[in-house]
Amino acid sequence: MTAVDLGMPRLPTGGAAGPTSTPVVGPARPDTPELVDQFGRVATDLRISLTDRCNLRCTYCMPAEGLDWMPGDERLSDRELIRLITVAVTRLGVRELRFTGGEPLLRRGLEDILAACAALLPRPDISLTTNGIGLERRAAGLAEAGLDRLNVSLDTLRRERFQEITRRDRLADVLAGLTAAKAAGLAPLKINSVLMRGVNADEAVDLLEFAVGNGYELRFIEQMPLDAQHGWKRAGMVSAQEILDSLRTAFALRPEAGERGAAPAELWTVDGGPVRVGVIGAVTRPFCDRCDRTRLTADGQVRSCLFATGETDLRVLLRGGAGDEEIARAWRDAMWAKAPGHGIDDPDFVQPHRPMSAIGG
Ligand code: SAM
Ligand code: SF4
Repeated sequence: MTAVDLGMPRLPTGGAAGPTSTPVVGPARPDTPELVDQFGRVATDLRISLTDRCNLRCTYCMPAEGLDWMPGDERLSDRELIRLITVAVTRLGVRELRFTGGEPLLRRGLEDILAACAALLPRPDISLTTNGIGLERRAAGLAEAGLDRLNVSLDTLRRERFQEITRRDRLADVLAGLTAAKAAGLAPLKINSVLMRGVNADEAVDLLEFAVGNGYELRFIEQMPLDAQHGWKRAGMVSAQEILDSLRTAFALRPEAGERGAAPAELWTVDGGPVRVGVIGAVTRPFCDRCDRTRLTADGQVRSCLFATGETDLRVLLRGGAGDEEIARAWRDAMWAKAPGHGIDDPDFVQPHRPMSAIGG
């Protein structure tokens, strides 16, 4: 992330303090093309949710019965979506695109969307986060369409446990998807794992052994209060420190040298390298002060933060005939009001109404 000095208050390093819901009232937004906020952060990484639907039902994300899916006419069409992405890349300085969901592989026309993004100038870096179902037959085509990198979510290597966590018996599909993605040259290929106490917390070492053995880069993510059921409890969350302590029983970990930049993961070299493991301590080791993200939901709402309780409606502008510069201005205004931090530790923290599966993780 490139920080601009706006002469504004800066966040303390590592800080996540501050309200999530109250827009920060402050000075007028400077007349810059980029997505700057009042704390000197610049958003260059756009997370795009392609759908809120999913074919798994991970317990930390959705209830067993699923959710009321977004009506089709509320979801942006491919054309509308590509127009907004084009505004972000050509007018707002966005350099990285990550497609997510819900399950992004469920979005019809995904390959065409990727190809349209790959044709933009300057060419953005294009990645995707998926649960891996159906990836086996799609991986080569996704790479051909312009996908650069992939994260596959995998919380356990045990079939029964996989079924318990995702409420579907699909571990074999995910593993086949990983193999196909590797063969398609989608590198570095990353695995996202969420550990939960009493569920899969004992698998940290097994997951890392699996990743090291197959050349995948593992990222552990602390469980966040973003589940649709609002059932998250701090006590059930396995902290970054606990994950590192478990891994150190079997591996020598050394902090990765060099600047971490805006990357949420703290990186560690495993047994002298070159393999690395990442730990994303979103709750206990927040990185809000370096956040470079902006988010677009499948129904065209800009969110300045995963935990924001307010949104800016670009769909209504788009469908109302707004020009590109008007849309760009609304997006800049939305990001200017970004709160300093997620505020999970604040006594008045309110979990956003929109769950992770509809925001895009
Ligand atoms: N369905 C795709 C998948 O699972 O990879 C993409 C969407 S999913 C919301 C993106 C990532 O968010 C996954 O790695 C998932 O494990 C993670 N995730 C979902 N709910 C979470 C939560 N409450 N806390 C932390 N990570 C979560
Ligand atoms: Fe679906 Fe991903 Fe949520 Fe699991 S984490 S239910 S795969 S959206």
